[in-house]
Amino acid sequence: MDENTIRNHLFRLAVIICLIGGILLASGVGVISYAMRSVHDDIHEQMKVEAQEYKNHIFKQFDKDLQILGTLASIFSMDHIFYSGTDNIMTWITKANSAYNDFVSIAYFTLDGAGMVNTFGTEFNSDYPLGSCNESIQVAVKKAFAGEQAISRFFVSEITDGQLYVYSVPIWYEGKIIGALAASSRLDIFDEIANDNMVMGGNGFVHLIGSEGKFLVRSSKSVVPMIQEYTTIFDGPYIAGKNQADILDMMKKQQSGFYEFNYGEKSYHFYLQPLGINDWYLMCVDTMWGNSPYIYQIFFVMGGSYFLMLILSCFLLFYGYSIIRKNYNNLIKLAYFDQVTGAENFARFEKRLSACRKQTDEYSVVAANMRNFKFINELFGKEDGNLLLNYLRKQFDLCMKENEFFCRDNADQFYLLLRDTNQTKIKARLQDIISRVNEDVRKNGRGFHVNIYFGVSISGDTHQALLAQQHIRQNSNQQVHFYDDDIHKTELKNHYIESHMDQALESGAFKLYLQPKMRLSDGIVAGAEALVRWQTDDGQFLYPGEFIPLFEANGFCARLDLYMVECACRQLREWLDNGIKPIPISVNQSRLLFMENHYVDALKRLLDKYQISAALIVLEILEGLAAENLEVLNNRIDQLQSAGFKVSMDDFGSGYSSLNTLYQLKLDELKIDRAFLCATSQENDEMRFIVLKQIIQLAKKLNITTVIEGIETKENAEMMVSFGCEYGQGYYYSKPISAKEFTQTYMQ
Ligand code: C2E
Ligand code: MG
Ligand code: MG
Repeated sequence: MDENTIRNHLFRLAVIICLIGGILLASGVGVISYAMRSVHDDIHEQMKVEAQEYKNHIFKQFDKDLQILGTLASIFSMDHIFYSGTDNIMTWITKANSAYNDFVSIAYFTLDGAGMVNTFGTEFNSDYPLGSCNESIQVAVKKAFAGEQAISRFFVSEITDGQLYVYSVPIWYEGKIIGALAASSRLDIFDEIANDNMVMGGNGFVHLIGSEGKFLVRSSKSVVPMIQEYTTIFDGPYIAGKNQADILDMMKKQQSGFYEFNYGEKSYHFYLQPLGINDWYLMCVDTMWGNSPYIYQIFFVMGGSYFLMLILSCFLLFYGYSIIRKNYNNLIKLAYFDQVTGAENFARFEKRLSACRKQTDEYSVVAANMRNFKFINELFGKEDGNLLLNYLRKQFDLCMKENEFFCRDNADQFYLLLRDTNQTKIKARLQDIISRVNEDVRKNGRGFHVNIYFGVSISGDTHQALLAQQHIRQNSNQQVHFYDDDIHKTELKNHYIESHMDQALESGAFKLYLQPKMRLSDGIVAGAEALVRWQTDDGQFLYPGEFIPLFEANGFCARLDLYMVECACRQLREWLDNGIKPIPISVNQSRLLFMENHYVDALKRLLDKYQISAALIVLEILEGLAAENLEVLNNRIDQLQSAGFKVSMDDFGSGYSSLNTLYQLKLDELKIDRAFLCATSQENDEMRFIVLKQIIQLAKKLNITTVIEGIETKENAEMMVSFGCEYGQGYYYSKPISAKEFTQTYMQ
């Protein structure tokens, strides 16, 4: 998973978490508002039902009263009371208005407007013309004259000094209306409703109102105090102006509806239901919704706990997210950053480089290394080594321009991406770094010198930059080297070598060449050194210097060396089979093979296979081995010598060999590097020869045979004899030649 994928995942995760949070929030709000709406609707429904019930209740009372009055009218007509004279009528009405009904008064009106009335508990008034009655009574009675049963509006009666209303029914005789009976009643039934404690289960009250919102009967439970001047529901600031207009409009149409009024910072719902009599309305008010702490508490607790849960869930979600994010960031740090310097690592550099290459070729890749970092690390300790790496990181940081970047790969290997492609410019920038580092190190006075060198590939890649850098390490003292054609060719060759080596080994392309080893005293061939040559498919020869270093690096050398031992054995067998007295053959052995566990056994198997004495094989090892672990090396030499092999140290004096090791190693032979003879500078000849002589003398004392390499002239040979060296190899005698030629030349 790369960095972008991780960032995309993180982004998606964040979006999902926000979505979940949003959904939770929306669903919470939805659930709570649904619950509130349900309760709200329930209350409205209850108000409707309740208003209907009160309406029914009122109607029942009206029906009852109208029925009583109707029955009285029937009796009045059937018993011909209206014919019986004023006294009789007076008596009948007085009787009718008894304690058996709730009427305040009963009156009889004839169609001509004459009337008489009995008011319960007072004297009979036989002169009570309709014209003298209250307007409301007149309207109701006229309706009865027209054949309707009617209920009047409320009016204030002079007789009872209270509000009354009147029922009136027609009196029929022989199919005609001859007059009307009217009976007045107190507002008891309305008062009952208005003062009922059980309206809305105790959480409401009912007003009776007339047209234009006028209070007809006002409930004593009203939340708005009963102020005298407030005669309609619209008085005072309680019902909003817009609602007032709506209500009036609705009342005109005799429809029902829900509205709200505000009082004391609370809002109350009310339901207006037309009564169906006159233009009266029942106004049923709910006090629970606006007023009940209970309902708010429920919603408060519900909402509160839901939001607590929501906050908790969101917190958990975000907490989880932040942990994941942190882990992701740590992963990215581990995956893309170097732990020692905090610089980007190679993986990230390669990623950025490949992105850059897709866009442009106006860049160069620089591989940077220090010549002596290993030495500094070992001598001054890892901590100082790390400090130095961090210091270098800072220097590279300072050198970076816009869109440039760098990384530390491993050890002291850094890569830089510069946006310059001009060699002079690049060189100047890199020289600048070198000078600054040198200056700082000098000032610091730690006693070491930091020698940075750079391989540069213009518009190339890290591999090419590294090759250019390695070119400096192997070939020169330069500090900056650019990847060029030569390196490219070497690279191609190396590629060829590595991709063809296996096949070459199987097809016998590695050939045994032999160079004679001469006994210097008499010039007799005392042995031969096996040197490999690779004959490529096109017949050309590759020399060991071209492929041995590669094989040492990739491990193939171990296989090749054993193969060369086998070639030597085969050659010895051939000589023996042909009756030729064999001479020992020296075979070069790489470090890798020499230290392999099965090494000695593998050699013995070869001896067995070709029936060759181990004494005929000399194994040449490189002096570098002695620098590693003397004890292990001596054990191995022991094993080989016990098996009968001779062990020779090759190229002695070419590296960091010390004469001390000579004492400690149980060598059979010392091959002195040809550099002692072929060195170019003449000035040190004298000294060099003194050392050479001493080495030969010392080896002699230690019973180690000496062989000098690189005898190219007669003088060389003579000098070596004078120094006491026993054997010599060199072009003076012969170059390495094919085994066949060697046999023909030296073995007949
Ligand atoms: P070496 O073992 O020291 O072999 C001697 C090298 O010096 C040979 O080079 C030889 O051709 C060269 N030489 C001999 N006489 C003279 C002289 O008078 N003047 C000069 N200038 N050179 C002389 P060559 O064959 O190119 O081999 C180079 C090195 O490659 C060998 O050095 C040896 O270390 C390595 N090598 C060769 N064959 C093998 C092999 O089969 N296995 C391993 N591991 N290394 C091998
Ligand atoms: Mg050799
Ligand atoms: Mg040598």
